[in-house]
Amino acid sequence: MRAAVLHEIGQDKLEVLDDVEAVGFGPGKVKIRVRATGLCHSDVSAMNGILPQPAPFIPGHEGAGEIVDVGDGVSGVSRGDRVLVCWLPACGQCPACKRGQSQLCLAGFMNAGTPNFKRPGGDVFGFAGTGTFTEEVVVDAGCAVPIPDDVPFDIAALIGCGVTTGLGAAINTADVKAGSSVAVIGCGGVGISAIQGARLKGAAQIVAVDPVQSRREAALRFGATEAVAPDAIEDAKQRITGGEGFDYVFEVVGKSATARTAYETTRRGGTLVIVGAGAMDDNLRLNMFELFFDEKKILPSMYGGGDVLQSYERAIALWRAGRIDLESMITHRVPLSEINEALDQMRTGVALRTCIEI
Ligand SMILES: [Zn+2]
Ligand SMILES: [Zn+2]
Repeated sequence: MRAAVLHEIGQDKLEVLDDVEAVGFGPGKVKIRVRATGLCHSDVSAMNGILPQPAPFIPGHEGAGEIVDVGDGVSGVSRGDRVLVCWLPACGQCPACKRGQSQLCLAGFMNAGTPNFKRPGGDVFGFAGTGTFTEEVVVDAGCAVPIPDDVPFDIAALIGCGVTTGLGAAINTADVKAGSSVAVIGCGGVGISAIQGARLKGAAQIVAVDPVQSRREAALRFGATEAVAPDAIEDAKQRITGGEGFDYVFEVVGKSATARTAYETTRRGGTLVIVGAGAMDDNLRLNMFELFFDEKKILPSMYGGGDVLQSYERAIALWRAGRIDLESMITHRVPLSEINEALDQMRTGVALRTCIEI
């Protein structure tokens, strides 16, 4: 079958091959025929080594499709079911799951070190234990979450990562107060979802910050009240908050430099939400005086910062009611054969989300 493979960490192009096989099917597993997958920034971060990932590997973790085979002992899904791929399945047993923080369950990461593909040249890993830039993938049954019939595959794929991450950051982690001021730094799919979440929560001002003009324009359509380039953040802070800083700032880039800017853009006593996925050797510097004296809350948000399955259901309900716009987030669509064009659309920032139709 066809799949897009990265041969070595650090390469910037994927090779679409037709000699790949999805392996590992057995008890507790399901095989999914992937129909749509979004290109998330974390895929690129895994390709260039910012996020740890063994190679060769098949990127993609934001996908949806149909179940084509169900292993022994699997209940809750059957052949033909439409599902989205959850890259962080909850085991339901560990202390984090029992506390209701399934976004912190580590069980799914145990699979990331086991190859779930192979080709004549040897084993191939799937990104984060999934790997959706492929026609078929074998995953733990917990990674396959049934979706209602009215949710198209492309929308379901988005909910599988970017939308859940961004909406959850605003709704679960920050719990944005009505009437508050918000800045969102980084306006790709996740940042746009955070903007939609802040709007839903009743934020009075939502300032979108992004270097790419088309993304700034998009942010205004999704609920931002103003959109500025990064070099204009300080000016926006002065104008909008009287220099005090925003009640909430979302860092959706995953770099210490933007996190530092975000910290300085947050008001004393305000909340900085770290949403971007960054590197292990990129350290954020804070001095002990400011940390204590300014009483700014730093809240990291992993995969929406709440129960993942509940977050999916909430996103579907909000989408169905027309309270969030997910269709317009998909600005580009390409077949798997044009995956490298999709990567370029992400790197240049012209795409909010590119959907790869398989
Ligand atoms: Zn993602
Ligand atoms: Zn668990």
